[in-house]
Amino acid sequence: MPKSLDIAIAGAGPAGLATALSLHRDGHRVHIFERFESARPIGSGLILQPTGQAVMGELGLLEAIRALGRPLDRLIGHDAHSGRTVLDMRYAALPRLGRGLGIHRAALFSVLHGAVVENGIPISTGAEITALEGGVLELGGRREGPFDLVVDAMGSNSPLRGRVRGPARRRALPFAAIWGTVPWVDDGFDGAALMQRYVRSSVMIGVLPIGRQTTGGPDLAAFFWSVKADDYDSLVRAGYGAWSARVAGLWPATAPHLATLGDFGSLSLARYQHQTAAVPVGDGLAAVGDAAHSTSPQLGQGANMALLDARALTVALRDPDLGQALERYAALRRSHVRLYQAMSLALTPFYQSESRFLPILRDLVVPIATSVPPLPQFLAALVAGKLLNPLKQLGLSAVRI
Ligand SMILES: Cc1cc2nc3c(=O)[nH]c(=O)nc-3n(C[C@H](O)[C@H](O)[C@H](O)COP(=O)(O)OP(=O)(O)OC[C@H]3O[C@@H](n4cnc5c(N)ncnc54)[C@H](O)[C@@H]3O)c2cc1C
Repeated sequence: MPKSLDIAIAGAGPAGLATALSLHRDGHRVHIFERFESARPIGSGLILQPTGQAVMGELGLLEAIRALGRPLDRLIGHDAHSGRTVLDMRYAALPRLGRGLGIHRAALFSVLHGAVVENGIPISTGAEITALEGGVLELGGRREGPFDLVVDAMGSNSPLRGRVRGPARRRALPFAAIWGTVPWVDDGFDGAALMQRYVRSSVMIGVLPIGRQTTGGPDLAAFFWSVKADDYDSLVRAGYGAWSARVAGLWPATAPHLATLGDFGSLSLARYQHQTAAVPVGDGLAAVGDAAHSTSPQLGQGANMALLDARALTVALRDPDLGQALERYAALRRSHVRLYQAMSLALTPFYQSESRFLPILRDLVVPIATSVPPLPQFLAALVAGKLLNPLKQLGLSAVRI
């Protein structure tokens, strides 16, 4: 019988909420601390991969999330000028792989948060954590604890980043993206695909079907445009009209999205940083989600990795020795996290960079990668998050949506 621990969960993003739920179900006493006055999601849409879906299934939340999201069969990208295919990944390339699920971040948040509330897990909001000392959390002027374990789920800028045994070196990625949520438009779009348009790798426009934010709500899409972080201010200064005319020129079907967005105020800038903690645990501390590893969203794994971390920590804490359990958690996630972090870092410049050479190489390789077995199968397994078989390792069953 695992020991029941007093656990503080720092941060109420996908990693924190899923970890809290999973540990609560295993009999631990958990308390969530979140800096926002009311817990809330940030951003627009994301893809819940078969890995993340399996964790949601284990938490008993698959039906709830499935009801809000939009199943995806493929990711498809074309050169904006020539129409040439520069990305074509089909989940069906591998039998029984499952499908992606496009979802609004608010939908993922509300399903996880609703379950946290339903389970009576306490959440302290307006609680900005500044430090951790001897199992006691410092939150501005006050202190909470001591806790047997603190789970750092405060994202890539966590104030506890340096407290794990193998802290990450941070690398700001040159390309960011502006994101917005728009009503779903059928004309010119495939409701079961993430669609993208590119000019070399310096321009990337994407439209991702994300289903509904709430039950019965309108169908939505996430719209994004890749921009160099340093160029964002000049983009805004040049005006929404100039930018939207450029986007509509490259992808005329997005004209209704651009008209709905109307100005830059409807779009949020997301900057990315790449960091991987070598050992994401410390004395009475475990880092999960972006606090342990963050990268560009090019491979679409971040929230899924956070959900896998939640499951891995739960499995590891079944060992009654806390020190050993934390080592086990680090070991359970090590290979999968490292592989995906390395793949994200290597692949991002092919789709987001100013290189002239990489997009040419990409355009030569992609037709082969999408048609010559076993490459399409490898690509599908990569995007689904299933390389190295993380589900089996964590005792999770594959799910079908
Ligand atoms: C534009 C964009 C697109 C993405 N697309 C995808 C995708 O398609 N698929 C995918 O899987 N992932 C995607 N990701 C990545 C994914 O969003 C992240 O990996 C995921 O949100 C990480 O969850 P998290 O809970 O670890 O961190 P976060 O979501 O950052 O949550 C951290 C929480 O901690 C709180 N917090 C922070 N500091 C403190 C403090 N000092 N005290 C108390 N609370 C604090 C924050 O308020 C927040 O609620 C994308 C990311 C971005 C930016």
